[in-house]
Amino acid sequence: MKSTTKRGFVVLLLVAFFTIGMCFLGFNIATNAETWATLRANMHLVNNGSFIGAGNILDRNGEILAHTEDGKRVYNNSERIRRATLHIVGDSEGYIASGVQTAYKKELVGYNLVTGIYTLKKYERGNDVTLTLDSATCAAASDALGSKKGVVVVCNYKTGEIICSVSNPNFDIREKPSTEEIEENEDGKFDGLYMNRLIDGLYTPGSVFKVITAASVIENIPDIESWEYDCEGEMYVNGVEVSCPSEHGKVDLNGALVNSCNCAFAELSQQLTAEQLTATANSFGFGKSFNFGNSVTEKSIINLENASESDIAWASVGQYTTLVNPYHMLTVVSAIANDGVAKLPFVVKTIASPSGRVINEAVADEVIYTTPEISKRLSEMMRNTVKDNYGDWNFDDITMCGKTGTAEVSDNEKPHAWFMGFSQDEKCPLAVVVVVENGGWGSSAAIPVAAEVLKEASKVVNVY
Ligand SMILES: [Zn+2]
Repeated sequence: MKSTTKRGFVVLLLVAFFTIGMCFLGFNIATNAETWATLRANMHLVNNGSFIGAGNILDRNGEILAHTEDGKRVYNNSERIRRATLHIVGDSEGYIASGVQTAYKKELVGYNLVTGIYTLKKYERGNDVTLTLDSATCAAASDALGSKKGVVVVCNYKTGEIICSVSNPNFDIREKPSTEEIEENEDGKFDGLYMNRLIDGLYTPGSVFKVITAASVIENIPDIESWEYDCEGEMYVNGVEVSCPSEHGKVDLNGALVNSCNCAFAELSQQLTAEQLTATANSFGFGKSFNFGNSVTEKSIINLENASESDIAWASVGQYTTLVNPYHMLTVVSAIANDGVAKLPFVVKTIASPSGRVINEAVADEVIYTTPEISKRLSEMMRNTVKDNYGDWNFDDITMCGKTGTAEVSDNEKPHAWFMGFSQDEKCPLAVVVVVENGGWGSSAAIPVAAEVLKEASKVVNVY
């Protein structure tokens, strides 16, 4: 009896060890198998450091942006398209961390916890990734931006599909600059070369922030629609001067935004508390990062904790310490265009097996930024800003709403030029954000870029 119990105990102990061992193995497979399967040493996948087993990357029309041919990763034939799509497609060596080739390596190789790299062995390539991008619009954006550093992004604000996303500086992936060239970085031409500025960029917003301040005053000042201000070109908040490029005269809230009157916004900001302005900014997505495919965006920052009254005045016109991320600003204009609801923009549309079976199809997440009433009022004022200040002639047949920014960055550099806006057209719903680093005035440097790109994008997203 005693020995039976002892034997039983030993068996139990063995079962326990076995179970623990299996759990450990299972855990290891689950956590490390992907790493083992995609290890650079695995010759199914790698040749000269390139992921040759990766599937195709296509634009929305099926144009092949990257594929594997005779054991080599091959890119689109057009240098314009290769450069324009560089930061979204990425490289196969992982320098551009947020690029699809790196962020979607697992999907491209076709790794699956159950079947391992079965697909890859059977078809000699992994899954195909189809993007929402239109490569011709990307090329037009890249041409419009020219040699300037910056970001151009356009999405369909009804679906969240990104039609165009360009980040400068870029390079031709067929002739990647050498490490020495990049380290030398003559004239700063390679600053942030591997960074997709859409996702990783943080910029002083300048006057595009006035749209957020306008939302805050509509929320918090009850008689705002009867408010008026007489701009004399300069004013003082606690002895600190706030100025406009010229005297704007009498303006109401609409006139303050249309003329981008710093003095009027500084005056309005004194009727808001730091908490109120911060709360509105946060409701519009400040302080939050967004998932961009398998990457995460930088958070836009507003911090008025120790701000004086004059600091708040400068913050209300988008200066002070506020910094914004271009992807985030695209969600802001998308929400204003779409009754206060942002459809979070995305770029990977589908992942399909080599046999064509769709494994994953993206749908935009939704975030509510503001009420339909406030978004309608902001839309009206942004429409008037284009119509009565910049001029509809800039945008041909597109009825645009928008706001420029000319963001001061330092005394010895030109300001960053911004434009953010959207088409007021249910059938061609486009939202756009342009940042031209050190481009100068938003109206003369960023609007022409936005106009060129919208012209191309409207051919793609137009259901007439
Ligand atoms: Zn003014």
